Amino acid sequence: MSKTSLPFLPFVRPYVDEETITGVINVLRSGWITTGPQNARFEAELTKYCGRPVRTFNSGTCTIGIALRIAGIGPGDEVITTPLSWVSTSNMICEVGATPVFADINPVTRNLDLDKLEAAITPQSRAIIPVYLAGIPMDLDRLYTIAHIHRLRVVEDAAQALGSSWNGQRVGTRGDFVSFSFHANKNITSIEGGALVVNDDNEAQLAQKYRLQGITRTGFDGMECDLLGGKYNLTDVAARVGLGSLARLDEITAQRRTLARAYFRHFRGSAAIAAGIELPPADFTNSNWHMFQIVLPLDRLRIERANFMAQMKARGIGTGVHYPPIHLFKLYRERGFGPGMFPHSERIGRSIVTLPLFPQMTIDDVSRVVQAVNEIINHYQQ
Ligand SMILES: *Cc1c(COP(=O)(O)O)cnc(C)c1O
Repeated sequence: MSKTSLPFLPFVRPYVDEETITGVINVLRSGWITTGPQNARFEAELTKYCGRPVRTFNSGTCTIGIALRIAGIGPGDEVITTPLSWVSTSNMICEVGATPVFADINPVTRNLDLDKLEAAITPQSRAIIPVYLAGIPMDLDRLYTIAHIHRLRVVEDAAQALGSSWNGQRVGTRGDFVSFSFHANKNITSIEGGALVVNDDNEAQLAQKYRLQGITRTGFDGMECDLLGGKYNLTDVAARVGLGSLARLDEITAQRRTLARAYFRHFRGSAAIAAGIELPPADFTNSNWHMFQIVLPLDRLRIERANFMAQMKARGIGTGVHYPPIHLFKLYRERGFGPGMFPHSERIGRSIVTLPLFPQMTIDDVSRVVQAVNEIINHYQQ
């Protein structure tokens, strides 16, 4: 077995091309390194892509909180979301003083189950935060029908879904608030960063105020502060990285789809499938393939997930966990959540593994990953 002869394959590797690196050097030499002309260009490009007003921020996390603030959501209000996400989604609900309400996922899409979402609506419900895990969007027509009937705001956590679409409409081009992240591991990156798509100029103005200390400037020397904003602006260095990355979005999405197709081809008829591993939905029209995640049949294996990941690492392959269920974290158990409440999220959160998928990978890399999975499953099957 060629266990150590090949270079280590991480589960993700950020991609910054040479043109972008040169562009960053030019920004550093320009004399304007924090929010300025590059950020204005990045915002303009994102606004063009979405066809709606977009403002940039220094993280995807803060955009979720700012959308909730713009919507006037706070203490006494309930916000419904999925337990299977990065914890920042529900942390932002808590940060604005609102109450997180979880609804379980659909085990196939691993996104919010819209029937469960409807069942979770109460007179206190004010908003929904759907999360497009791995870039798989949900039925946006039904989601917005539910939102309209119950007069709920929607903050789409599309941190992983830039480049995804629903029925031919790209995520970000329709709906209510849409939040993107440009963290180093996302499909496009500004190292750290995020963007919020809003509905109109008034909301865009508010987003700008929340982004920088609640300040509005007028004329040469006018300045007013009329709301409690924070410090969430994106630097021009980061914006230049984001611009270089955004220019390659279509190319990146196409390459991710090619690699995902290769995963399906290699897994077809394999020992791993026979043993019961679950693949993601084979979606080649909507998903941007942010991740390729398998669910391990732990009840049929003699090892736990951590051991599976260690065995992959021993074969030179990195894996990840996205994510443990939020409601089982201490902070949320202290709010009354606990085991047994959201069985699909709990099983999948316990058994999900992210395999390598990034545009610089080759089909041979995919074959190597699937071979390693098969070897381990074969060896530890009971
Ligand atoms: C990455 C991510 C976030 C947060 O984005 P940051 O830019 O890291 O703050 C939120 N939700 C989901 C689902 C994410 O994947």
